[in-house]
Amino acid sequence: MSRDSTYVSTRGGTPPMGFRDAVLMGLATDGGLLLPASIPDVHGELRAWSSLSYPGLAKAVMAPFIGTDLEPGVLGDLVERSYRVFADPRICPLTAVGPVHVLELFHGPTLAFKDVALQFLGNLFEYILSATGECLNIVGATSGDTGSAAIAGVRGRSGMHIFIMHPHGRVSPIQERQMTTVLDANVHNIAIEGTFDDGQRVLKEIFNDLPFKNRFRLGAVNSVNWARVLAQIVYYFHAAFRVRESTGCERVRVCVPTGNFGDIFAGYMALRMGAPIGHLILAANENDILARFFATGVYSRGPVVATTSPSMDIQIASNFERYLYYRLDEQPTRVRKHMEAFARSGRLEIPGTDASFLAGRATVPETAAVIRRYYREHGYLLDPHTAVGAAVAERFLDDGEPTVCLATAHPAKFPEAIREAVGEDVAHHPTIDSLMDLPTRCNVLPASRAAVQEFIRVTLGG
Ligand SMILES: *Cc1c(COP(=O)(O)O)cnc(C)c1O
Repeated sequence: MSRDSTYVSTRGGTPPMGFRDAVLMGLATDGGLLLPASIPDVHGELRAWSSLSYPGLAKAVMAPFIGTDLEPGVLGDLVERSYRVFADPRICPLTAVGPVHVLELFHGPTLAFKDVALQFLGNLFEYILSATGECLNIVGATSGDTGSAAIAGVRGRSGMHIFIMHPHGRVSPIQERQMTTVLDANVHNIAIEGTFDDGQRVLKEIFNDLPFKNRFRLGAVNSVNWARVLAQIVYYFHAAFRVRESTGCERVRVCVPTGNFGDIFAGYMALRMGAPIGHLILAANENDILARFFATGVYSRGPVVATTSPSMDIQIASNFERYLYYRLDEQPTRVRKHMEAFARSGRLEIPGTDASFLAGRATVPETAAVIRRYYREHGYLLDPHTAVGAAVAERFLDDGEPTVCLATAHPAKFPEAIREAVGEDVAHHPTIDSLMDLPTRCNVLPASRAAVQEFIRVTLGG
């Protein structure tokens, strides 16, 4: 299947562009998010795709979104190299656990599902840069999980440096060590004397300084990058095919623990392309703005509450605008109007419902109870994010449509929540256990734009 793929902004203000430019642009220059101008219909490919290996499937699913924008053979090579580093030869294995099928997305280097996309994005950036001879300096701010996966995706690559800010002393010891034990010369950890919000503010100020941004060729790897969504579409097809094989059921439903709406948006794309998915189940913790939206049509901001599933402690979901674009009949002026209203008032409302989505929330005690029950009854340890998903998924079990629960992190990343839930210290992984003995490197800086810019300038020798 070969076609030219074009990308447009949800707000209609960018010229149509190819895949490479969409990946390098990240956030659209008109403030919107980039999407393919049309969604490929792959119903005719499903039979052939269902017997492919994970890397073969990844190549097949991604190719129509790339068209002729990468030379022949390049995509296959990038995919092979991205998934060779996964510890399980099946890349994203499925396990039947009690009433659900768990899709383990945590066999990458940092033990979280973000590796599936960020390993690919690191290889893709390196390839694009080597083809043009340019360099790129990634700058990001993290509250914990994204930073380590981004660092793992970029470490040791040529043509790229990465600067990641985290709030000094305010991330878990494991999260801190997963970042600061990476000693490659192109990795620069910055512990900001302040909160996560201070880091976000400094990041915004640095990107708004356009002369600085252009001079040092700054780029971003946050979840609005189209290549991250693209790499995640693959495992929805993979899960649906494997569960169809083992159960004989035509369609599956997939439950997704959700924060920024990136992962579940990839599922929505898979469904629209023709993957055998009957429903998507959106699972939220106490920060349930998205679950409320699917119940009522009202998207309204509330305060952020700290939970045991911190990567879902989000009120404004950066990828939601992509979904809104389809709900508003692909009309950029309507998207713009709703997003402007939301920026002003913290509220927007969309008439009608979407029968493809089911949604619910699980509280911290409900999440702990599910972790305990799955461990006692099925001998399987869920991480707290995955457990939010399992708790919600169990409310929607359907005999004709088996449920896949996306397992977004290995439980060893969240040992305190697991100890609380099961009463024993049972969450271990050799990668995590060895972190405490490794040497670290980190720079502590004040939470100011000037201090971080000076550090970047000196490091890059500008
Ligand atoms: C990032 C993350 C999520 C949420 O994913 P979104 O794409 O932001 O919805 C869920 N679980 C874990 C472990 C994560 O790291």
